[in-house]
Amino acid sequence: MSAILLDGKAFAAKWHKEAAESAQRLKAERGIVPGLGVILVGDNPASVSYVTAKERACEQDGFVSRQIHLPGEATEEEVVAEVRKLNADPAIHGILVQLPLPRHIREDAVIDAISPDKDVDGFTPVNVGRMLIGQPCFLPCTPHGIIRLLIDAGIETSGRHAVVVGRSNIVGKPVANLLMRKAPGGNATVTVCHTGTKDLADHTRQADILVVAAGRPATVTGDMVKPGAAVIDVGVNRVPDATKQRGYRLCGDVDFDSAREVAGWITPVPGGVGPLTIAMLMQNTLEAARRA
Ligand code: NAP
Repeated sequence: MSAILLDGKAFAAKWHKEAAESAQRLKAERGIVPGLGVILVGDNPASVSYVTAKERACEQDGFVSRQIHLPGEATEEEVVAEVRKLNADPAIHGILVQLPLPRHIREDAVIDAISPDKDVDGFTPVNVGRMLIGQPCFLPCTPHGIIRLLIDAGIETSGRHAVVVGRSNIVGKPVANLLMRKAPGGNATVTVCHTGTKDLADHTRQADILVVAAGRPATVTGDMVKPGAAVIDVGVNRVPDATKQRGYRLCGDVDFDSAREVAGWITPVPGGVGPLTIAMLMQNTLEAARRA
């Protein structure tokens, strides 16, 4: 058996089109153009490429984008000051601080400074708390994209066993929470695995829906997948590869070749979860602009 490929680019293209049409309507009806402010500190190559992709998405969807690029030596106070300027700027509806930040800057302090009304990444304690108790909020983009993918691809979650590998604040914890919500794309029974989990394979083999966000290639291999499961690979890893011009290739946290022989559905890397994340960022920014 070979799994159905969940083409993240195709799903994201549809969601971008919706966002672009809604942005046009918002402009025509209320004169508002959704604006996204992105703060990048330093020159981490992966971060630079993510920020560039977000800027391109803004252009394509008819949003305003403002990029603030600070040197890697910028102080925490300087970064927080830029966040506050964006908080006060009426042309900017959504704020994103590209993570990770240099080690001398506390991420919590910077995220806490973002106005919850402009927190389109859904990372501030206010939005995380609202998500947890089911109040309207900005949902974090990667977990939200995964839930919407499951819904749009017609993959049933209600009553199913979902296993999440990883418990980070940006992926593992929120996606587990969304999968357990009494809502579309939720209502699953959820197990969360991490490095303290004994016998990871024993858990992953029970998953009808397996979300892997561990940050390590081949954390999950085909023999760890239940036949017919939906496998969502969140990982983005750069693996040295001399045959590539740039010297590396991207791979996920799941061994794609062995897992696709067992799974019912699978996301590729690249071209799976990554494009969904940016599409959901546009949706959140649009929503923030609507509320303005
Ligand atoms: P993270 O903060 O490093 O968290 C990784 C989690 O995985 C931790 O909870 C860790 O457990 C767990 N883990 C690591 N190795 C494990 C193992 N062998 N068995 C069980 N659990 C294990 O990473 P993250 O920020 O969640 O990101 C995860 C991956 O997704 C990364 O590759 C990242 O680049 C990618 N990502 C992609 C997108 C996208 O849009 N495509 C967005 C965000 C992240 P402990 O808590 O015990 O340490």
